[in-house]
Amino acid sequence: MKAPLSIHEDERLAHLHRLDILDTRREQSFDDIAQLAMTLCEVPIAVVSLIDRDRQWFKSCIGLDAEETPRDLAFCAHAILTPDDLLVVEDALLDDRFNDNALVLGDPYIRFYAGAPLVTSAGYALGTLCIIDRVPRKLSALQLSTLKLLAGQVMQLLQLREANLALAQERENLDDVLKGANLGTWRWNVQTGETVFNARWAEMLGYNLAELAPVSINTWLTLTHPDDLPIAQEQLDKHFRGELTFYECQYRMKHKLGHWIVVFARGRVVSFNTENKPLWMSGTHGDVTELHTSRIRLQENEERLQTMISNFPGAVYRCENDSRWTMLYLSAAVQQLTGYRAEKFIDDSLSMTDITHSDDVPVVYEKVQQALARKETFHVIYRIQRLDTSWRWVEEVGRGVYGENDELKYIDGFIWDITVAEEARTAIQLSEQKLSTLYNQAPVAIISNNFADGRFIECNPEFVRMIGYSADEILHMDYMALTPPEYAQSDKNELQNLLRSGRYGPYEKQYIHRDGHLIPILLNGVLINAPGGEQHIWAFIQDITERKRIEQMKNEFVSAVSHELRTPLTAISGSLGLIVSGVLGDLPLNMKNMLAIANKNAQRLTLLINDLLDMEKLLAGKMAFDMRVQPFLPIIEQSLEANKAYADTFGVSLVLHAQPTNVSVNVDAQRLQQVLANFISNAVKFSPANGQVEIHVVAHEQRVDVAVVDHGPGVSDEFRTRIFQKFAQADSSDSRQRGGTGLGLAISKAFVERMQGTIGFESEPGQGATFFARFPIVNTIG
Ligand code: ADP
Repeated sequence: MKAPLSIHEDERLAHLHRLDILDTRREQSFDDIAQLAMTLCEVPIAVVSLIDRDRQWFKSCIGLDAEETPRDLAFCAHAILTPDDLLVVEDALLDDRFNDNALVLGDPYIRFYAGAPLVTSAGYALGTLCIIDRVPRKLSALQLSTLKLLAGQVMQLLQLREANLALAQERENLDDVLKGANLGTWRWNVQTGETVFNARWAEMLGYNLAELAPVSINTWLTLTHPDDLPIAQEQLDKHFRGELTFYECQYRMKHKLGHWIVVFARGRVVSFNTENKPLWMSGTHGDVTELHTSRIRLQENEERLQTMISNFPGAVYRCENDSRWTMLYLSAAVQQLTGYRAEKFIDDSLSMTDITHSDDVPVVYEKVQQALARKETFHVIYRIQRLDTSWRWVEEVGRGVYGENDELKYIDGFIWDITVAEEARTAIQLSEQKLSTLYNQAPVAIISNNFADGRFIECNPEFVRMIGYSADEILHMDYMALTPPEYAQSDKNELQNLLRSGRYGPYEKQYIHRDGHLIPILLNGVLINAPGGEQHIWAFIQDITERKRIEQMKNEFVSAVSHELRTPLTAISGSLGLIVSGVLGDLPLNMKNMLAIANKNAQRLTLLINDLLDMEKLLAGKMAFDMRVQPFLPIIEQSLEANKAYADTFGVSLVLHAQPTNVSVNVDAQRLQQVLANFISNAVKFSPANGQVEIHVVAHEQRVDVAVVDHGPGVSDEFRTRIFQKFAQADSSDSRQRGGTGLGLAISKAFVERMQGTIGFESEPGQGATFFARFPIVNTIG
């Protein structure tokens, strides 16, 4: 008969399976109990049987060679139905439940069975300890109770086994955790110094445990950095005194390979001795070198950032995007910027908007919001009022910081003071305005050309008006294109002046108007070094057409008058000369004196007219020059001779200082003598009575100079620039005092320059004057 199932069969099976014992190997302890039951009850077979879902499985089976049988055949399946009682079948053949059982009718021919259920503390019968015989039997009461006791022992064994398994599992888990956390473990007897480390502890330091044996607390002491020992000791003391729940300490330990690793140890006292002193301590020990290095690196980065922020010439901030820009972080430099301490902004007792100019607040807000919406950097300039009430211009750059879902978290940015730059900018703007007004409105043409190639760089509207080309056309031209070719040489000379002295002019020349007519102009210019290494010429140009026209009229008038005067004057002067010379007979003395004065003035008038006519011829380009290559010195000597008598009348002596030289020049001798006569007569006129005028001739390598030196009053600074102009006299009373026209030097200059020479003078007021002319020496050989 098949044993029915208990109503708690599922729970019973769950308990059985939790023991994890089915199909395990045989164990001596179970066999021993079965053996004991067999011996005590004097039967040939004893079995520890466990009832699985469909089978009974034997943990121990003495006297029978089997491992399991089907559950349907199992006596034990019946036995477990009554957990509290033993099932005793004295003769199976007489029991309806078993008399047809294959195990009764066949091998092993069971006739007697007694099974004590193996009952858990919760009351589930998992199987039995049973004894079997092949003949019918009866058990004594002692045997029955002993069998029950032994079943209890089996149950104990099973439970112990379960507990052991759980313990082993726990240990395995713990090992896994330690391994996973990369932790070594230690136990230390505080009193004796006995110490236990696990393998991982040694491994972290590059050792295996055997290499370190025998281990004690000294193992730790020798491997730990001596500088760190006091810290460890201090932590330990604090823990012992109860100030720290845990002993926690970070220190350096020497790795087997020689380098230091950083270890974090944590532990606690786990037992005390009878005197209540710490006995055993245990804990863990982990390698935190990497963590330590990255923490140091982080710290260094943070320090670097802080230094950079504090060196930044302005405030660095992180704020909320609200109307008060609530500050989350603000560098201390804000105090320099605003006069207020950073804390005031952070605790929100002050906001940047509070100190921003009210006109600027909405503009700044709008700009920032627009940039944030586009996720762009914003850039604003606005005014703030400092604590000391002064206003400052500040510039701010910032951008939004966004979270994972693109939401704006806060704004990061910089603010710095640009007042100085802003004021400079305004000043520059003002001066630029002034300059550009002058430039655009000036009644003078202003141009700028590249020194290297003459290209126009700029020109003002007055120049455009003057020249007839559009500004655009001008900027595609160079000044040479506007200049008549005959000015090439004098342009070159002026450029050399410019290079030497940084400025040139006043320089008279002509420009060609767009319609082809010539414009007389007067130039003054300076050389400016432009950024980029180029040199620019800036020039002011005066249109002197009108002046020229008037000059022309004046010249025409003077020459017309001179021509008209010359013939009558020649007649008057000739007649007076004849009368005064006495050719026409004696004259009364008083009349003779008057006529002499008239004659002298007629001669002066003739000289003036001659000068004027010379001038006119020169200007009209009609004066012929008889240029010849000839020795220089004789011309000078002749001039000296010719002017001696004139000098005598002033009581002035002429002295020649000439190097023995025989250089030749290409000149018109008569014109050169005219120049010298002018120099000498001026020098004589301005010499003190009984003075001396020296004439120096000096030859250089390529030129020869003649200089006329006097010891008169010299030329005043004020007059210097006009001295070679027509009709120029330092003092208009001069002409009367000393006789003269103011034309002499102007004519001399024109003569000398026509003969390829240069003219000039040196004079210090009160110290006399030196007038000179220089001519290129001509190589006469060949
Ligand atoms: P002028 O016929 O009046 O001498 P110039 O052209 O020769 O005309 O000279 C012009 C002016 O230059 C003179 O009136 C005088 O003021 C000044 N001048 C010329 N030579 C001398 C000199 N040696 N010393 C001082 N002043 C001089």
